[in-house]
Amino acid sequence: MISENSVKCYICEQYIVDGNTYDEHIILNALGGRLHSKNLFCRQCAPLFDKIDAELAKQFNPLANLLNVKRHRGQPQPIQAKIVNSGEQIYIDCVGKIRRLKPTINHEKNGRLRITTGGNENKLKEILNGLKRRNPTLDINKELKSAVKSKSSLDTQIKFHFEVSSDTIYRAICKIAMNFYVYSTREYSHINHLIPYLKGEEAIDCVKICDSIYEFFPFSLTRGEVFHSLIVRGDSEEKILYGVVQMFSTFQYIVLLSKRYEGQGFSDSYCFDLTKRIQHRPFLEIPYISKSLILEILGQQLCPSSHFKTRINDLAKFIQIHQHSARLS
Ligand SMILES: [Zn+2]
Repeated sequence: MISENSVKCYICEQYIVDGNTYDEHIILNALGGRLHSKNLFCRQCAPLFDKIDAELAKQFNPLANLLNVKRHRGQPQPIQAKIVNSGEQIYIDCVGKIRRLKPTINHEKNGRLRITTGGNENKLKEILNGLKRRNPTLDINKELKSAVKSKSSLDTQIKFHFEVSSDTIYRAICKIAMNFYVYSTREYSHINHLIPYLKGEEAIDCVKICDSIYEFFPFSLTRGEVFHSLIVRGDSEEKILYGVVQMFSTFQYIVLLSKRYEGQGFSDSYCFDLTKRIQHRPFLEIPYISKSLILEILGQQLCPSSHFKTRINDLAKFIQIHQHSARLS
């Protein structure tokens, strides 16, 4: 039923009615996002964004899992990574324990076997049974007892890959900024030109990951805090509407929502503290970002600076400390 409180889906502009509601997480629940609303878009429109949401979740999931981020639904999954020295493929769970994909068996000079288990005892027995067929004197139980257990924590250098600036990721980030703008203002007439971009029907250069030389948010990692943070700001004089999205206090994106903004000046901010699980809104004194700076950032070539590398190292250190305390607790 449509009442005077009914709102329209900002994608299809039909009224959201009972039976057609959709509870949208403004920042993905898979990445720990808490802020959600049933007043953004309808159930029919929601699947249009499954693909971009899934890609954002896939790329940032390793970080969410390493930080053991809690979700409303689902559990953290182990992430696949590679040991730098050996190239061995492994899994790392949410407290940093390494699980090998398969056990390794090496013949030592003294004739004994050196076995490194991968947590997969069945696979190991299978390999040992194979060896026993060739060497009938092999005592499988004795060998299993003497197996060298794999190192269980992240004290070796590992690497994993994730993409933070693809077209699909940019569209998912644009949706976060648009969601927060509509959530904050109940208004969408200034951003509906971006809907074909969200749906993948049009290419628009409106999102860019920006270097950490631009500090739009207070730096939190060295204080032992990690946030997802959002800003939206409309500037009636410069006629610009923009958002800034920062994921894991590290990856910061500028989103140009409109460069012909005719609405009133306003701003809003939000952050979610991923370790304490506390939301703050508003969250900070909104920084003034000029139209020329936003257009300059959007036009820049992507070239990670030493600041950006330092920021990534800060995040890696943060994860190590966080996992160490998770193992102790
Ligand atoms: Zn709709």
